[in-house]
Amino acid sequence: MILKCIKTVAFAALALVCVNVSGQDLLARQAPIDRKLKAVDSLALIRQIKAEQSAYPAYSLYPNWDNERVHVYGTAQVPDSFRIDLTGFCMPTTHTIITSKCGPRWRRMHNGLDIKVYIGDTIRAAFDGKVRIVKYERRGYGKYVVIRHDNGLETIYGHLSKQIVSENEYVKAGDPIGLGGNTGRSTGSHLHFETRFLGEVINPELLFNFPQQDIVTDSYLFVRGANRYSYQRSAAALAAAKNGKSGRNSDGGAIRYHKIRKGDTLGSISRKYHISIDRLCKMNGIRRTTILRIGQVLRCS
Ligand SMILES: [Zn+2]
Repeated sequence: MILKCIKTVAFAALALVCVNVSGQDLLARQAPIDRKLKAVDSLALIRQIKAEQSAYPAYSLYPNWDNERVHVYGTAQVPDSFRIDLTGFCMPTTHTIITSKCGPRWRRMHNGLDIKVYIGDTIRAAFDGKVRIVKYERRGYGKYVVIRHDNGLETIYGHLSKQIVSENEYVKAGDPIGLGGNTGRSTGSHLHFETRFLGEVINPELLFNFPQQDIVTDSYLFVRGANRYSYQRSAAALAAAKNGKSGRNSDGGAIRYHKIRKGDTLGSISRKYHISIDRLCKMNGIRRTTILRIGQVLRCS
């Protein structure tokens, strides 16, 4: 009986060794496959990163992410030129009156555009992006918000009465980010709106036409050193926009936009502009289920 037991134990031990050996064989055979999979994985990852970088230039353009200071790009490598995609925008306010332009003012530089708004008016994100700063500056911007957008721009919204986003929060174009106000270095309620690329000021009027509630062009060619306070270009761009020469679609026709009003649906817009809902979605980077916001502007041709 004892002998039988020993035999059984020995047999079991042998069987265990056999399983282990064959298990190890299996593992050994698996190893090259794992290495191959790993290589495929990293290739796929590199491809994915590259795709994301081209879709979201901000990822690769900016050297750092700073929640404290607005102006932190003194040593950043600014490309000689860069095309900024302005489609998918939303006007930050529905107000149309510009009270102060970007440029020299009272013997100092005014780095943004002032648009008349009233205390409590909704201020919206101009593009998709991530909120970098939500702070208060008593002698300057007052209550302000800085957003870094996927297209590479940064926008600053100053003199708000209330900020309604948090730092590091993702926002979509048109999301409310604050309420109009008169805080900081401001006389009379207004929105101080800045557009910057790697810290370099771009006159917002080169990008946005507030009186017409529209963008000036589909994509803005940033040229290093040529965007700062360039009023002549601004005036020319505005004149071109007024004449409907701001952009041409692939058929050579003028690009048309539609500002969302109460009751508008993708269906009603598609019928109005004789364009399919799918095409409308594709051109504006939205889905059929996207909720349209009043004041949002969609490209329609
Ligand atoms: Zn201002």
